[in-house]
Amino acid sequence: MTKHHLIALAAMLASGAALAEYPDKPITIVVPFAAGGPTDKVARDLGVALGAALKQTVIIENVGGAGGTLGAAKVAKATPDGYTLLLHHIGMATSPGLYRKLPFSVENDFEYLGMVNDVPMTLVGRPNLPANNYAELVKWLEANKGKINLANAGLGAASHLCGLLFQQSLKIDMTTVPYKGTAPAMTDLLGGQVDIMCDQTTNTTTQIEGGKVKAYAVTTMKPLTTPALAKLPTLDSQGLKGFNVSIWHGMYAPKGTPAAVIDKVNAALRTSLKDADFIKKQEALGAVVVTDGRLAPAEHKKFVAAEIAKWGPAIKAAGQYAD
Ligand code: ASP
Repeated sequence: MTKHHLIALAAMLASGAALAEYPDKPITIVVPFAAGGPTDKVARDLGVALGAALKQTVIIENVGGAGGTLGAAKVAKATPDGYTLLLHHIGMATSPGLYRKLPFSVENDFEYLGMVNDVPMTLVGRPNLPANNYAELVKWLEANKGKINLANAGLGAASHLCGLLFQQSLKIDMTTVPYKGTAPAMTDLLGGQVDIMCDQTTNTTTQIEGGKVKAYAVTTMKPLTTPALAKLPTLDSQGLKGFNVSIWHGMYAPKGTPAAVIDKVNAALRTSLKDADFIKKQEALGAVVVTDGRLAPAEHKKFVAAEIAKWGPAIKAAGQYAD
């Protein structure tokens, strides 16, 4: 055996040892939005299942602000050892078109770990908004032009994208009020400080079920089957032909995370997405757990690239950018 062989063998044994040990301390999943919101809810339920699969504690850290880009930037710069991961949504695909100076590259600064779920969105209003259905809402919006407050979770958030398309489709400009996530936005909507919001069903289902907000429509082409949401019409059927926003979540690690660690997290993710309790919780909130090829990191990366190409033109047309 040559010296080179010995070095290669030592390196193999060392990475094998690292893999055998991983994870030997708690793993942090960064959620780039406020606690208690729709992305956070997915992360916390997934964290329980992942923790069981990896036999390790999973901690959720909320790093909200700037439409999810602050949290994503934090993970892009973290040590690539598998102990700092990111759970993010469609914002991974919308932020490259919205930020002139994004502090990370969606394509080059992350390892893709697999996708988690697809989540529809809903259009909801403050409880004291006089409109009781979508047709009445449109009339109210027309009558209140220049005075409408639309809440969102910042430029690049799902609520921003959905609200942007809604304004474009109706040709009504609204004043957007950005929050660190739609959990605090929901608090203000419930309090009547803002008028309407587009948000994932993982945040709105409970509020709709409890009659706490006015619910106007779903953003998918087909009505939903979740009992609390089944009566909501689609925007497509209400005159906004082709309106279709369904968001998704995926998991990421900093670029350079060892392949063996990525494989281990991906295997744990696959186990978690078969967990009956996780599936039940997601279904009750209108989300659909991924079971297709997007569970594979390479397919996940391809899907995100396709989403960047899909949403780029609509974002450009809206002419909304941040530095
Ligand atoms: N629903 C938020 C968004 O607009 C994110 C969140 O608070 O989870 O993207």
